[in-house]
Amino acid sequence: MEKKAAAMGAAARVSGIVREFQKKCDSPIGKLHNVADSMAVEMRVGLASEGGSMLKMLISYVDNLPTGEEEGLFYALDLGGTNFRVLRVHLGGKGKGLIKTEFDEVSIPPHCMTSSSHELFDFIAAELARFVATEGENSHPFPGRQRELGFTFSFPVRQTSISSGTLIKWTKGFSIEDAVGEDVVGELNKAMERVGLHMRVTALVNDTIGTLAGGRYYNPDVVAAVILGTGMNAAYVERANAIPKWQGPLPRSGDMVINMEWGNFRSSDLPLTEYDNDLDVASLNPGEQIFEKMISGMYLGEILRRVLLKIAEEAEFFGDSVPEKLKIPFILRTPHMSAMHHDTSSNLKDVASKLRDILEINNTSLTMRKVVVELCDTIATRGARLSAAGIYGILKKLGRDTRKDGEYQKSVIALDGGLFEHYEKFRQSMESTLKELLGEEASDSVVITHSNDGSGIGAALLAASHSQYL
Ligand code: ADP
Ligand code: MG
Repeated sequence: MEKKAAAMGAAARVSGIVREFQKKCDSPIGKLHNVADSMAVEMRVGLASEGGSMLKMLISYVDNLPTGEEEGLFYALDLGGTNFRVLRVHLGGKGKGLIKTEFDEVSIPPHCMTSSSHELFDFIAAELARFVATEGENSHPFPGRQRELGFTFSFPVRQTSISSGTLIKWTKGFSIEDAVGEDVVGELNKAMERVGLHMRVTALVNDTIGTLAGGRYYNPDVVAAVILGTGMNAAYVERANAIPKWQGPLPRSGDMVINMEWGNFRSSDLPLTEYDNDLDVASLNPGEQIFEKMISGMYLGEILRRVLLKIAEEAEFFGDSVPEKLKIPFILRTPHMSAMHHDTSSNLKDVASKLRDILEINNTSLTMRKVVVELCDTIATRGARLSAAGIYGILKKLGRDTRKDGEYQKSVIALDGGLFEHYEKFRQSMESTLKELLGEEASDSVVITHSNDGSGIGAALLAASHSQYL
């Protein structure tokens, strides 16, 4: 009798904690409108002066996006998270488009993410040299020319030209002190020299910029790009005369691409919980990247772990003792969470096996597994709705949420990143929330496209449009 009462008490505590969490995560449409409005306000502040806003609104020096006429063989290197990619892209020129793309993906050894600049760039240069060596003799359409490389480097960089820039800070689990403040192209060049690789970086870009360029190559209506991967960020095409802090000459196109660095966005309207605060405090960059920490693939699984740990500790969710594995930060990854969230079996067998394989939690009841799925849903939905609000904020800033001369302008947003690509429920929720924010009429003119591996191909395209041989 007593045991039963205790169990019931524990169940009530579990549901109390879960309900409280869900309440805090709630993101009603009114709140999302506020988030979008403050995003648009911060965008203006960030464009007005350097350092004025939490949004860096970095000037990319990209004022010419690909047109489809680019021609030649170009390389790209995409570094930004868990893996890095090397690409070789053969561009056919006008009317021919992209003839061939070859790529290789390498995972970055964890020690390279936190050791020294030397070690990281040596590793990258060696992999790049290995890839270049597979080129073959006849594949270079312009023999004698130096090979050119687009370098996608997806961390906040203060650009000093299209092909140089200093690292402002690391994010996403990278932390290499001696690289901060250094020119990342200079570091790469030195490493390439050390391995005897003669190649020239003609474009240094962020992955958002690469994705934007990749999207534009196929569709002239692309106005912005959003990455939802390990981290999250956005870039968009701004009118150069709407950037008060831009000191340079007005570009011929009249446009300038801006890397927002919106992962660092925060607002009192963000539905933050105690779990987010704890995650932030324990992170490598406390107080920073708050928007990113609520949304991106690096963190969603970790938020779930923290809530599960709480109900294990305070409501004996997994029995008398707290499962040891559950105490390990980042053990539960977002792909695991997504697999559990998408479990459609009647007994939630995938949830059971993930809990067993990753956390060594056996004998879970169906009721328990349902709670886990519910938590996945709460966390993913919050992230998805907030990303939609961010996109809506960009459209508002550009005045593309309303009619111009009686018509809505067609706006295409290029999206990429593992979270967007593989987390279906996240993607669906994001897309439906964006529609909800735009309203029925406007939503027909806004399209989200998947710019597959746009960040790498886009960098090669930008290397082409900024080639020294033009
Ligand atoms: P990066 O952001 O490191 O350049 P990606 O764009 O490939 O790389 O994104 C990788 C991230 O995407 C992973 O860190 C993970 O969080 C997320 N991800 C990958 N696969 C899945 C999945 N099946 N479900 C949910 N998220 C996933
Ligand atoms: Mg990436």
